[in-house]
Amino acid sequence: MPLMTGEQYIESIRNMKMQIYMFGEKINNSADNPILRPSLNSVRTTYDLAQMPEYEDLMTVTSSITGKKINRFTHIHQSTDDLVKKVKMQRLLGQKTASCFQRCVGMDGFNAVFSTTFEVDKAHGTKYHENFVNFMKYVQENDLTVDGAMTDPKGNRALSPSKQADPDLYLHVVERREDGIVVRGAKAHQTGICNSHEVLVMPTIAMGPDDKDYAVAFSVPVDADGVFMIIGRQSCDTRKLEGSSIDVGNSQFGGVEALTVFDNVFVPNDRIFLNGEAEFAGMLVERFAGYHRQSYGGCKVGVGDVLIGAAALAADYNGAQKASHVKDKLIEMTHLNETLYCCGIACSSQGSRTESGNYIIDLLLANVCKQNITRFPYEIARLAEDIAGGLMVTAPSEKDLNDEKLKPYIEKYLKGVDGVPVENRLRVLRLIENITLGTAAVGYRTESMHGAGSPQAQRIMIARQGNLEQKKELAKSVAKIIK
Ligand code: SF4
Ligand code: FE
Repeated sequence: MPLMTGEQYIESIRNMKMQIYMFGEKINNSADNPILRPSLNSVRTTYDLAQMPEYEDLMTVTSSITGKKINRFTHIHQSTDDLVKKVKMQRLLGQKTASCFQRCVGMDGFNAVFSTTFEVDKAHGTKYHENFVNFMKYVQENDLTVDGAMTDPKGNRALSPSKQADPDLYLHVVERREDGIVVRGAKAHQTGICNSHEVLVMPTIAMGPDDKDYAVAFSVPVDADGVFMIIGRQSCDTRKLEGSSIDVGNSQFGGVEALTVFDNVFVPNDRIFLNGEAEFAGMLVERFAGYHRQSYGGCKVGVGDVLIGAAALAADYNGAQKASHVKDKLIEMTHLNETLYCCGIACSSQGSRTESGNYIIDLLLANVCKQNITRFPYEIARLAEDIAGGLMVTAPSEKDLNDEKLKPYIEKYLKGVDGVPVENRLRVLRLIENITLGTAAVGYRTESMHGAGSPQAQRIMIARQGNLEQKKELAKSVAKIIK
C-alpha cells in the first residue's frame, strides 16, 4: 500500500496498542480523544493531500528505493529540486493546518540516517546502511509515519552522557544480546509520536569514546513493549473538551508532543543503525539538525501565511484596513515571512550530494534559516496582536454568544463594520489567539525558538561554517595587506 488514504491512516493508528498517558490517566482510544484528535487530523492531512491531483507533484515522488510512487514524507532526497519541493510541501501543509503536522521529523531523520550509516559502514565494515535501506522499504511500502526522536532529557548540561548522576538521562544500551540490544532512557518533546507508527531514535549530541553505549540509533514500533508516552500540556488545551468550535480558534487541527520513555526496550539486530560508533554521533546530529532547520523555512511560513491573513481579516472586520499603519504592519509581516521562506528555499537550492547519494541542504544557510525563525515569528505574532486589538483576549465565550439573554448585547456591542457577523469577528480573533497564545503557539512560537535546536546551537554552527579566515583573506587582498 504505497499510498494510504487519510481514513486508512486513522484506522492504522487506531489499531495500534500504544501506551499513552494524559492528565494522570491511560488513554485507551487516542484517535477519538478530543484533546488528541486535532493533532491526528494534522498528520492525516499529509495523507489526504497526497491523494489530490493538484498536489501530486509536491506531495508524491518516485521512490529511489522501490521505484514506486510514494508520499514525499517518506522520500530520500535525490536532488536539490527534491529539497526545494520539500519546503514548498511544508509551506502548503502549514497553510492548510495552521499547526504542526508532525511528519517532518521522521523525514529529516531518514535522510540524516541514510547518509550517516553509509559513512559508518565505510569506516567500520558494519551493515547499518543495509538495515536502514530495508527499513525505508518497509516505511515506503506501507506509507508509515515515523517519529524522529533525538532530544534526550540531558540532566546536568555541564556533564557528558556517561558522567550523569543518573545514567538514563541519555538513552543508552543496557544489554547486548545475540539477537539485538536492550535500551533504556527517554526522549523529550516528541512531536507527533502518538500519531506515528514507528519511532526512529538517534543520539542527541556529539560523543566521545566514554559515551559508546549512548551512541545508538534504531527504530521500533511506537507500541513496542516498554515504550510509553506522557502527553505534554498545551496552553488552553482543555478548551477542546468544551465542544466550542469558536473558543478553540482552530477546531480541526493541532500539534502534540510527549515525553517518551523507553523502559528496557528490545531492538532486533536488523533495526539497529548505530551501535557504539561514537565518533559518528556528531555527524548524525548535525545532519538531522540541518534538515530540520530547513523544514522550519517551510512549515512556519505556512502558519505565518494563515496568521497574516487572520490579522488582515481582523482589520477588515473592524474597519481599520485602510489605516496606513495597519497596511504597513501587514507589509512588514509579509516581508518577515517571505524572508524566512527565502532562507528555506536558499539552503535547499544550494544543497549537495552526500557520499551515499542522497542530497543534503547547505548547512550554513539552513542554520541561518533557523536562527531567523527564532526571531521573526515572534515579531509577526506581535504585529498580529497589535492589529487584532485587546478583544482577542477579552472576548466572551461561545456559550455567552449563544445565550438567549446575552446574545443581543454581545452582537450589539462587539460589532465592527456593518454586515460582518460578530461570530466571524470572534472566530478570526480566536484563531489569532490560538496561533500566538493557545495550543498552536507551541508550534508557532516556542518551537520556533527551541525546536531543531535552541538559538545558540545555530550560532555554534554558523561560527563553524562561516569561514572567517577566508573572509579575512578577502579583506587583506582588497586592502593590499601583504603580510
Ligand atoms: Fe514539521 Fe514544522 Fe512540525 Fe517540525 S515543527 S514537525 S517541521 S510542521
Ligand atoms: Fe520541530
